[in-house]
Amino acid sequence: MIKVTGLQKRYGRFTAVKGVDLEVRRGEVFGFLGPNGAGKTTTMKMVAGLLKPSAGSVVINGIDTSVDPVAAKKIIGYIPDRPYLYERLTGREFLAFVGGVYGMSDEAIAPRATELLNLYGLAHFGDELVESYSHGMKQRLTLAAALLHSPLLLIIDEPMVGLDPAGAKLIKQVFRSFADDGKTVFVSTHTLEVAEAICDRVAIIDKGEIATMGTVDDLKELHTEGGGRLEDVFLKLVGSPDEQAVISVLRDDRGVRA
Ligand code: ATP
Repeated sequence: MIKVTGLQKRYGRFTAVKGVDLEVRRGEVFGFLGPNGAGKTTTMKMVAGLLKPSAGSVVINGIDTSVDPVAAKKIIGYIPDRPYLYERLTGREFLAFVGGVYGMSDEAIAPRATELLNLYGLAHFGDELVESYSHGMKQRLTLAAALLHSPLLLIIDEPMVGLDPAGAKLIKQVFRSFADDGKTVFVSTHTLEVAEAICDRVAIIDKGEIATMGTVDDLKELHTEGGGRLEDVFLKLVGSPDEQAVISVLRDDRGVRA
């Protein structure tokens, strides 16, 4: 579903993404992990067609995004790390606006919007202004907007920020059922438990380069002789020496794993 080859992004003299190669298969939830500033958002924006690569290519379901960006965007639902919602629209108006941007007809938008508002517990709030929504409701509306045009690929940058346990559970269920339907989820997260719980495979990026990639079990086997957690793999590969020292002290002092 996603084939990224030699992807690079330079900001002036600084290279944020240094030749990333990735393949994400249909039916997969693929996690993209890395420390702050590693290049996750930059890579995801290039995959979603929102940022022009300095070099390399992105092919989505056989469509080269540099050749036919509009066709690629039609099959992508993208949720940025800081989604923007029009607060002075109602939830239903917002969905109608987004559907229009994706070229959906009013006849197609109305029933789909109702279906998604019902599905995400917003049925009674569809005609309320977005500004009156709680953080969790806004995130569910953002998800509804990303799924409105029935994309084949969902790209989500940091979906778990500020979600309560029920919201986090819902998101995990949405990702799993979306992938189980034969579609694809490409998700970045700092929450390693989430990656461990829902991702079929993960890639860890550090300083613009892929440090490792595989199933969570493969990575544990490869980097911690099988006994560790994903957190141990992550810290071993990309944690600063300071972080590693603090964690090992915590483990020794408390006699428990940090
Ligand atoms: P985080 O987890 O903190 O969101 P990230 O892995 O998503 O980080 P990016 O936002 O992709 O990282 O940033 C990668 C690097 O590129 C960082 O060093 C960042 O400062 C730099 N960067 C990002 N956008 C720009 C820009 N528009 N101009 C210059 N540098 C940028």
